[in-house]
Amino acid sequence: LINFPYEKILVLGLAKSGTAAAKLLHESGKEVRVNDLKADQDSDQVQELTGLGIEVVTGGHPLSVLEGVELLVKNPGIPYENPVVREAENRKIPIITEVELAGRLVNDSIIGITGSNGKTTTTTLIYEMLNQSGCKTQLAGNIGNVSCEVARNMAEDEWMVIELSSFQLLGIDKFKPKISVLLNLFEAHLDYHKSFENYKQAKAGIMKNQTEDDFIVFNADDNEIADIAAHSAAEKVPFSKTKKMPDGAWCDDKYLYFKTETVISLKDIVLVGSHNLENIMAAVSAAKLSGADNEGIRQVLNTFTGVKHRLQFVSNVNGRLFYNDSKATNILATSKALSSFSQPTILLAGGLDRGGSFADLIPSLEFVKAVIVFGETADKIAETASDAGIKTIEYAKNVEEAARKAYQLSLEEDVILLSPACASWDQYRTFEERGDMFMQAVHTLE
Ligand code: ADP
Repeated sequence: LINFPYEKILVLGLAKSGTAAAKLLHESGKEVRVNDLKADQDSDQVQELTGLGIEVVTGGHPLSVLEGVELLVKNPGIPYENPVVREAENRKIPIITEVELAGRLVNDSIIGITGSNGKTTTTTLIYEMLNQSGCKTQLAGNIGNVSCEVARNMAEDEWMVIELSSFQLLGIDKFKPKISVLLNLFEAHLDYHKSFENYKQAKAGIMKNQTEDDFIVFNADDNEIADIAAHSAAEKVPFSKTKKMPDGAWCDDKYLYFKTETVISLKDIVLVGSHNLENIMAAVSAAKLSGADNEGIRQVLNTFTGVKHRLQFVSNVNGRLFYNDSKATNILATSKALSSFSQPTILLAGGLDRGGSFADLIPSLEFVKAVIVFGETADKIAETASDAGIKTIEYAKNVEEAARKAYQLSLEEDVILLSPACASWDQYRTFEERGDMFMQAVHTLE
């Protein structure tokens, strides 16, 4: 660990990242204590750590865990109101998250992606583009491995591509991506951050340590993001869907460009949705800056059908295009998915009833010719569809039956879209399970 003057450290919250952080610190010769509210003393995780000689306190957050502590490594999910975190703040003990540790191990080889939406898609695209171009790379964070473990095993000329949440970014001190990517900023997580300004500041953390030798890839069409970038010392690489960007990525109605180069014809991009075009431009920019070639980038964009369950193209069955957007658990996400298509669409929606209305969905139903409803909200969505003037509304027991009914109703070139606008818990354990059931059903159609 470079530049790390702490000897006695408390890791708060176990999970995967806490365990990895505790092990790394222990191996680096530090005195480590772990505190977790829920972890079971008999679990493998706790046994492994105590076996190494690490003190593990479970079942509560007694302030005594701070005894002698010089640094707190906090799980990003733990709020700052937690009594131990509060007391650490009172005592002026520095508080970091696990990514900060990764930053102390590797320098100059991190590509960090943040934004309210599109992080996973963009992170995956950058990783694939680098891979296809023959560049060494590892995925870290949410969809990859724990970042401090990745950092420990990185080769000299390897890139770490990491999705960074605002919660992680609040706990950084010296962490610095070589390339930071800022996608967009919507009102989100205000329960945690209290105000939009705090949330924005957390996101801005991604670039706070960058210097003129680093790069900031940012969405020039998003005013809040452009404002953050304006304060950055890093070389600015803007992308825009609407304006020519001589220093970054841009497009006209035929091609996508990076600076003066033509990268790909838009019709060769498989991923649908104008929001995904933003993610693609961000990914192309970061990939080009880190050594990817146009051939590798094209191969990815010619084949990448989307991150699983996020407006993912499933299959073309006799001219019907099936998409799985099971991750869409609210009206906004479903509206976004619907706005990606301008051909006749059959929408499959429904799920857990949170008590709200679906009226806000009506403006997005322009191209929807039929709706198949299921789950607790079936009646409410059926009513909304009827208010929107949609004639064909059918009920299904579950997403499998919905897929079959939609297929029966469909014509060639129709889009059949599972985008439920509801959480899955009334019928499925997770949105992933719901999406998997749908895809399985689609694969049995002929
Ligand atoms: P995240 O990891 O930030 O949650 P994902 O890539 O998993 O983002 O996408 C989640 C959902 O967010 C998508 O299904 C889509 O509805 C929406 N989304 C994705 N990219 C964008 C974007 N650039 N702008 C607005 N919304 C987006």
